[in-house]
Amino acid sequence: MRNTFPVFDLHCDTAVALSDTNQVWAENDLHIDLNKESKLFSHTQVYSFCCVYDEHGDALTGPEAEAKFIRCISNFYSELAKHSDTHKLCRTADDLLEAAKEGKHGVFLSLEGPEVIGCDPGRLDELKDLGIVMTTLTWNHANLLAGSHKTGEGLTPQGKAFVRRAQELGIIIDVSHLSEQAFWDICDISMSPIVASHSNSRAICDHSRNLTDRQFKTICNFDGLVGLNLYRPFLTTAATATYDDVRRHAEHFIGLGGKHHLSLGFDLDGCDELPEGFRDLSDCNGLGKALIEGGLDEQLVLNLMNNNAARFFLQYLQRRNVGEFLQMDELTRQLNEINVNT
Ligand SMILES: [Zn+2]
Repeated sequence: MRNTFPVFDLHCDTAVALSDTNQVWAENDLHIDLNKESKLFSHTQVYSFCCVYDEHGDALTGPEAEAKFIRCISNFYSELAKHSDTHKLCRTADDLLEAAKEGKHGVFLSLEGPEVIGCDPGRLDELKDLGIVMTTLTWNHANLLAGSHKTGEGLTPQGKAFVRRAQELGIIIDVSHLSEQAFWDICDISMSPIVASHSNSRAICDHSRNLTDRQFKTICNFDGLVGLNLYRPFLTTAATATYDDVRRHAEHFIGLGGKHHLSLGFDLDGCDELPEGFRDLSDCNGLGKALIEGGLDEQLVLNLMNNNAARFFLQYLQRRNVGEFLQMDELTRQLNEINVNT
């Protein structure tokens, strides 16, 4: 069996943690650094910016949240500049293809909590200019756009305008953290596939942050993507989580017809309780092996750890250039050309 795995992960909080703890990307005591990353076969990571609370966990709103966002993203840009020989900031499908061709790690940026732009659809262009390719509508609080999984309200008129404008700009809508009502309200108006970047199965672990079977199937029908989360309370109600719990969530989603729509959103550096044996990013290799040893097909594991997300991002972000989704055979050709599949 292979010892190293390609990893494409849809959600981590490392970029904000670097600022909060005043550490560098190259080497730190967080879950993700470049040394840990070097242990993987390849690594493409969506770095998320959640700036609606401060380093003590107290809520930030308005100008304070915006100031934190600018501080964190500026800091991460300077970290990226230090490592441009090995990492490439990706805004488009072409960027991701180039990164793979050049043997660089792909870096995407996303937002969690649009309070940093005042929840204003008119300011989504600013996010796009900053390289943000995906955004949630809420974090754990309700806001001007929607209710969260904790509060339950649906999508507001401003939320509808926000979804429409984001999708016009080619920014992916991430439904993680949303209320179920807001989820269905988005499905009513969405013109593009949607992503739940870091959410598990509610049938396996009954938590409001997880997805019902109906939600998951709807995301699949939209040709969207769901990232498995490693945070213990989203995996199991037991006191500790194991790799078997991760496999149970994966198997359940696959059983619902999700084998092409399942990926990773491990929530690294955003959670303090991980499955037994998982200390940091480099343990993705051990997790990959455990999933295969637990009975999942190797190609299926490669798809969920890397290929499904790579295909989705190529497909979604290409749309900005060609005005419609590429045909799957063209995508497969491009993927084979750059050996993302190996
Ligand atoms: Zn989150």
